[in-house]
Formats: sequence, structure tokens, C-alpha cells
Amino acid sequence: MSLSLIAKSIKASPTLKLNEKFAILKEKGDPVIHLGGGEPKSKAPMDAMLATIAHVNTGEVRYAPADGIPALKQAVIRYTEEFYERKVKPENVIASSGAKQAIMVALQAILNPQEEVLFPAPYWVSYPDMARLIGAIPVAALPEDGTFYPDINDITSRVGSYTKAIIINSPNNPTGAMYSADFIAEVVEFCKKKDIWLIMDDIYHRLIFDGRKRINVYKFAKNLDENSKIIVINGVSKQYAMTGYRIGWAVGNKKVIEAMANIQGHQTSGPSVLLQKAAVGAINGIQSGVESLRTTLENNRNVMIDLLKSFEGVKVHKPDGTFYCFADFSAYMKDSNKLSEFLIDKVQVLTVPGKEFGLDGYLRLSYCGTIKDIQEGIERMKWALDPNSPNELYIGDRKLVRDWA
Ligand code: PMP
Repeated sequence: MSLSLIAKSIKASPTLKLNEKFAILKEKGDPVIHLGGGEPKSKAPMDAMLATIAHVNTGEVRYAPADGIPALKQAVIRYTEEFYERKVKPENVIASSGAKQAIMVALQAILNPQEEVLFPAPYWVSYPDMARLIGAIPVAALPEDGTFYPDINDITSRVGSYTKAIIINSPNNPTGAMYSADFIAEVVEFCKKKDIWLIMDDIYHRLIFDGRKRINVYKFAKNLDENSKIIVINGVSKQYAMTGYRIGWAVGNKKVIEAMANIQGHQTSGPSVLLQKAAVGAINGIQSGVESLRTTLENNRNVMIDLLKSFEGVKVHKPDGTFYCFADFSAYMKDSNKLSEFLIDKVQVLTVPGKEFGLDGYLRLSYCGTIKDIQEGIERMKWALDPNSPNELYIGDRKLVRDWA
């Protein structure tokens, strides 16, 4: 079929595909455990739900402005003041259908075909395909020292005359690594010197552990003004457990925000008013849910890491934030796609292959589910992979027999 070159270069989102697989297996009644998920299981904040219902009750749900309703812009302005100590104006803010769309329209606003966008690896699965969608070139920078923490040379050594933008996601999906303030400061200075756009994907910035302090990128920017090429991305999906509401935002200079709004206006128009109202409710409402989610995740992380550490052959780094951990399973199988398939087939545990994030031999495991799922999921994985495991495993009243080496 004569599909476009761009269409042919894009894969389905592996994480969304996994969610579909989970739904199908669950529907069949299979005892499947999802350790590949990317969303907290807590409920949306009450203030978000009430705000949506109040608007539904008006009976008037109309088009929204392409760049977001004024109330959401005001909420984002207040959020930016609170978390970034920066006063911005409505023209510096755009609301999009998820942080995903905010990043996408930012890339569309700044990159020409064949120009490059660079990001540290392992990276969020969508960055490379987002670049390809606009004919741009994704460049992944895997830290030379084998850690999940890039240093400035990992970045500068891959920058060339075609580099137009750098995306930094910290804490990082999939590794949970939070980059140091010194590293962020160096990236800000380097981007300024080279006149490169810097996109900070801060979607997990409040979900950090062990008493770490949030990093505010603007602190390192000298002469912050309307020509600043820093774009900060955030949203309600993760911190407020509102993934299905699809509201994210970007804060940037007036010209780039206007360009992003023009693009979005022809793409989807503004996000639904109902969902924007819900986001306003969440951002301006009681914040205790964020802290309770954060502490739950920190506890879940500890449980998962302890279990993985007792797992001979697995190398794991303790995540600093997010709800993911990225563990090295290469001692068992080098091909992470095959390993992930094997775990689904044999013990019905869903994990995301590291290859999708730019590092084979690893699996991304999520700890945003229940402790029971974490414990049982890892136990099943251990049974499937450890040659010294007993020959049989019971899942409920199903008996699994090991018929592989
Ligand atoms: N950035 C990162 C690093 C993410 O992990 C995600 C969601 N998985 C997003 C952006 C997009 O979030 P949203 O649901 O707001 O589109």
C-alpha cells in the first residue's frame, strides 16, 4: 500500500500496545500482572472531579481557545511561580492534550526536516518517533561511563551544526535517574552558548525520593527574558493520577508559544474544556494526594528493589524518582524483546523491553501498581528465569510446570 515515508518510519507506541495486550488477556480471564504500566492507580483528586461535574452541569461544552482556557493558563502561571519561582504571562503558556502533545507541537515549532534533536539515553519511547514524525533526526546520547547519569561531554560530543534542540527528562523514564543540578546547569549554559533550544520534560518532577530537592531549570539561566530558548513541559497525568484526562502544558517564550498554538489550532484545537477545568481543579485544589502518591511510590520502589536485589543475575540501580526501575537482565537473555515475550508467555507478567528505550538487555518494571502485584510479579519472573527454581509454580489454582531450561 502506498503509505507515506513518515507513516512507514513510525512504530506503534510499545507501552500503549502493552496496555492493549493486558486488557485482552485480562478479558480472557488470564491471571496477568502488569509491571509495564505508566500510570498511578490512585483516584483523580476530588477537586478535579468536582470541577468537571460543575462544568458539565452548565450544559455548555464548547470549543476551547487553541492555546487553552484562561483559567488553566492562570493555574499554570501560579504553578510556575510556586515550583519554578518565575512569574510568566498568559502568552507564555499553552495547554495541550497531554504533555505528549505539548512536546510534539514544541518540536514542530522549532525543528526543520533533517535537523537533529538530542536526548540522553535511555529515553522515553516517544522522543525518537516524535522527531521522525516531522522528518527530523533523533540523536540518543548514551552515557559513556555505563551509568544512567549523562555528563556534559556525553551531550556536547553529539552536538553538531544540525542540532536544534535537546530534551532533558529528569527524573527519567525509564531509569528513574534524577540528573544532578550541576549537570542541568551545564546543559543550560551550553544551550545558551550554542543557541540551542532546551526542552525540559518535567512530568515527574514532584515524584522524587529520599528527600531529594526538585531542580528548577530557570535558576541556572542567566538573563532570562523573552528570547529564552528554554521550554518547560509538565502535566496532570502523573502527579495527579489523571492520565486519561490528557492535559499537559508548556511554558516558553511568547513567539514559540504562539507558533505552537497555531500548529495545535490546526491539529486538534484546544483540549476539551471539561478536561481543562478538571486540570484547574487539580492544580489549584488540595495537594495532599501528590504527597501521598509520592510516599506510596517510594515505598513500592523499596519493595521492588529489595526483591530484585535478591534475584541472582539481575543488576539494578535504585531509582531517584518516577515509578519505573530499569534493570539489567542480560545475564538471562540479551534480547529484551524476546525476554519480555517469554515472561508473558510463561508466567503472564508484562514488562517493557529495554530496547524500546534505547538499551537492550534491560527491562522496565513499574512500581505504580499494588505491592501484591509487585511481589507476585517478581516472584513469577524469578521462577521463570532461575534454573534452580522448583519445577512447579501455582498461580491461583493453575499449576505451571517448567518445561524449559
Ligand atoms: N514525558 C514522559 C517522560 C512520559 O513518561 C510521559 C508519559 N508516559 C509523557 C511525557 C506524556 O505524558 P502525558 O500523559 O501528559 O501525555
